[in-house]
Amino acid sequence: MKIVDVRTHVLSTPLDEPFAFSMGWVHRRSAVIVEVITDDGVIGWGETLCHGLQPPQIAAAIIEHALKPIVVGQDPFDVDVLWERMYNLTRPFGQKGAVPNAISGVDIAIWDCLGRALGKPVHKLLGGAYRTDVQPYATGFYRRQGGVYPAEAVDEARRHLDRGFTAMKLKIGFGVEEDIAYVQAVREAVGPGPKIMVDANHAYNVGAARRILKAIEPCGIHWFEEPISPEDIDGYRELKNLTSIYLAAGENEFTKIGFREWVSRRAVDMLQPDLCAAGGFTECRKISALAQAWHMPITPHVWGSGIGLAASLQFIATLPPAPLALNPIEPMLEYDQSAHPFRQDLICGGITMEGGRVVIPSGPGIGVDVDRDVIARYRQA
Ligand code: CA
Repeated sequence: MKIVDVRTHVLSTPLDEPFAFSMGWVHRRSAVIVEVITDDGVIGWGETLCHGLQPPQIAAAIIEHALKPIVVGQDPFDVDVLWERMYNLTRPFGQKGAVPNAISGVDIAIWDCLGRALGKPVHKLLGGAYRTDVQPYATGFYRRQGGVYPAEAVDEARRHLDRGFTAMKLKIGFGVEEDIAYVQAVREAVGPGPKIMVDANHAYNVGAARRILKAIEPCGIHWFEEPISPEDIDGYRELKNLTSIYLAAGENEFTKIGFREWVSRRAVDMLQPDLCAAGGFTECRKISALAQAWHMPITPHVWGSGIGLAASLQFIATLPPAPLALNPIEPMLEYDQSAHPFRQDLICGGITMEGGRVVIPSGPGIGVDVDRDVIARYRQA
């Protein structure tokens, strides 16, 4: 089998109502969808993470001009070799950000080809599933223009609970005192039962993050995600030793090389690589092995369309509990509940929550089919 073409589809659409997180206002949802075509007719799909403020055209151009020439003509079963070639040849202008994002999309599409060619889900090709379903947590709680907080967050928390969620993640990073009052108000409203995480999207420095950590400790917060900049690994180590709240980060780190310091220096309690950003299946399984060697659990960052969600579920299936036990600490699924006009429409059948759990797709490849009409509807010229 040989790869004969790699196509990128830049999908983008404005939101009816923009929303804010601590870094700015999100006006559009975008995705870079990657299609790898083989000479025997097998087609694989992948996705490159496009975060809220990221123009999708950058990763698409990297795939088109830098990665496609490396993989076309090659055997997709040489996926590990192809990954290292893609990384090596883009190293002078890559290593972090849009280049590993782009490599991730191509790599996921190649693994999808392999799964479809063999009639097996990707998790079977990676050594099997530790679980067939996963507990999702609701990501949302973005701010809207004119919104009243914490009242609207309390309403949103109740909506998630009504839908069956038992865990949710609050967006903070809007000011130390405001954040503390906000977290306390939501916890008081929902009671002690639901698992609550907080995410500052690196809005703070160590001093400000320390004040928040200390103040919200009595609220029973499960983890504090990205309190400070991803460049400040020493800052993470300082904070981690001050609190019983788990520290979490990883969505702004890339490749096994990038994660080496985070893991070996025990900078966080919970590692959050994004499959569609940090390097795809080939690299994220290595990041997973690295984390396992240091007994560090992974709960991946997920913020893409249905393709990225399906692929991430395949990856989550393969994550060993850290450690294995009768009642092990299990990874959760980050299940984005914020506005996204084509997230679920893009895949046929969709991915749904049943009884508070999300089932890992068991069909070939990433386990879902893609709706080309939806690609055509949102595709940018
Ligand atoms: Ca986050």
